Amino acid sequence: MTFGLYVPKRFSAAIDGSGKDSVPVLFWLSGLTCDDTNFAMKAGPSAFAAAEEAGITICMPDTSPRDGVPNVDAYDLGIGASFYVNATEDPFRKNYQMYTYITEELPTLLETNFSIGKDGLRSIAGHSMGGHGALSIAMKDPSSWVSVSAFSPICNPTACPWGEKAFTTYLGNVDAGKAHDATVLLSAMDDPCFDEILIDQGNKDEFYPDQLLPENLIEAAKKSGQKITLNMRNGFDHSYYFIASFIGSHVAFHGPRLAKKQAEVAAWSQAITDFSTAGKPIKCKAKVARAAKQPMCDEEVTVDPPKAGEVRVKVIANALCHTDIYTLDGHDPEGLFPCILGHEAGCVVESVGEGVTSVKPGDHVIPCYTPQCCEASCIFCQSPKTNLCPKIRSTQGAGKMPDGTVRFHDKDGKPIYHFMGCSTMAEYTVLAEISCAKISKDLPLEKACLFGCGVSTGLGAVWNTCKVEANSTVAVFGLGAVGLAVIQGAKMAGASRIIAVDINPNKFKSACDLGATDCVDSSKLDVPVQQHIVSMTKWGVDYTFDCTGIVSVMRAALECAHRGWGTSCIIGVAASGHEISTRPFQLVTGRTWKGTAFGGFKSRRDVPKLVQRCIEGKLPIDHFITHRFDGVEDTTKAVDALHAGACLRAVVRY
Ligand SMILES: [Zn+2]
Ligand SMILES: [Zn+2]
Repeated sequence: MTFGLYVPKRFSAAIDGSGKDSVPVLFWLSGLTCDDTNFAMKAGPSAFAAAEEAGITICMPDTSPRDGVPNVDAYDLGIGASFYVNATEDPFRKNYQMYTYITEELPTLLETNFSIGKDGLRSIAGHSMGGHGALSIAMKDPSSWVSVSAFSPICNPTACPWGEKAFTTYLGNVDAGKAHDATVLLSAMDDPCFDEILIDQGNKDEFYPDQLLPENLIEAAKKSGQKITLNMRNGFDHSYYFIASFIGSHVAFHGPRLAKKQAEVAAWSQAITDFSTAGKPIKCKAKVARAAKQPMCDEEVTVDPPKAGEVRVKVIANALCHTDIYTLDGHDPEGLFPCILGHEAGCVVESVGEGVTSVKPGDHVIPCYTPQCCEASCIFCQSPKTNLCPKIRSTQGAGKMPDGTVRFHDKDGKPIYHFMGCSTMAEYTVLAEISCAKISKDLPLEKACLFGCGVSTGLGAVWNTCKVEANSTVAVFGLGAVGLAVIQGAKMAGASRIIAVDINPNKFKSACDLGATDCVDSSKLDVPVQQHIVSMTKWGVDYTFDCTGIVSVMRAALECAHRGWGTSCIIGVAASGHEISTRPFQLVTGRTWKGTAFGGFKSRRDVPKLVQRCIEGKLPIDHFITHRFDGVEDTTKAVDALHAGACLRAVVRY
């Protein structure tokens, strides 16, 4: 990867690798002439002076295709950033994966090596084709970018000759380009995605009337109310002289927005600096589930101080998991109400009870519904074969702390039950010390929280429960967050073939992105899915995973496991009262049926390791976060998002 980087003086220590704090960055995307020096030479002096002033770095990637250019006789195709898409057509497919480069590879490299752009401190801008790149990349994933601006952008590429040619060449047809067209993306939005978008356009630009079409973008912005400031600059054309003249105002546009985000991140990572609440009850906001099948209520609750062996934590981020919904919807006959749900969260320790030594105030922890007591007398903790520590099982199941009492009370002083030993849908909660996995502070808790349940479960089912080997074949039933984590884990384990099965074909794209090699829409088959998969593979697949909780699917998963040695793993939680069945002959002929809880990970030992791998860039998890919300109240929006179906994980910052 080649890129230019301008770093203001104040950050020189930060990027030598010693800095822990994130450095804000503005990505600059060039047009056709897209090496790493073009912008720096032509617009550098004004841009860098402004960057020094604003306290932001500027990253200028070389976005020409890697490993050579196919021999194409066209000045605007062979070189030139491939329109910031991932080409699907030959001969471009191999070297033109520019979308992934800008949105994943380069940010990861900058974050892990230089602390640049961590915690979402990234903005994006560009010129011409790069202006199109900036706008479309930002609009495709607004939560990953603080702000966006552009010079003379190609605003509606599917409606102009340049875009038509590029999309047809790189993606096979113009329609496929709609997913990368800022005007199309913006016209589909109901709400604004940025507080403001800044565009500069010269009125003497020779491409303005036919290729750039900023008016189309302005029109598309009306529905969502997206504010766009379009500066028409008198007498300027498409050249870099235009950029050099106004780049200062663009840097000054992004600077304060990045600074604001940086302040938010700082405030949040030091969410607790005041520990004077120790020993006292805390009144705070919580979502209380009063009864099954009822909406949760916003209430003020009292959270008592931790007793011996307990830890009180401030919940920073809560990710919604299907088990919360399952209980709320009344499918769990043992569900206790009123309770505070939530079990996938990232927290900071506020205070600890008597005898607690493994964590201290200020530590970052992930609550684990599967505890790990580590006692010499605990045959489960001492055995490498399992992670199921029973130490607090009975009280946890009864919605209480290990001493048999609760720490939550409502306004009238009435007790509220705990849930799965976690109850993270509150600003504060109390956990057993043996349920706290202490993790590095280098991963933001809004990401780290994902390791509290679904993602860990999927990865662990592959790595621990089934120990999938390199070159194995794998089938995954159900492509929610857990199923996708199974695919990611199987790919990392070196599986040679990964068959993704679902009844919703919209899920196949993410599955393939993570490593699935085949996708099967089981609702479209005229034979049972197990028969179909066996026919794809001759004898079945080495490992199958049920991530649906549907007992008929569990049966199908077992029955397409490989004759002689296939293993099928149940991950999904079945509705109460449902039973699995198959003919015993399926097991006699060599298949193994097993299940997993929390992916077999020993929680306090293994969750910190998963977090560390993520920090090192070896275990990306950002793709699981599809929705973000703020405040305990908005937990309800997360519930709606999960019910709507297109959601993998909705993370709510408290
Ligand atoms: Zn869960
Ligand atoms: Zn134990």
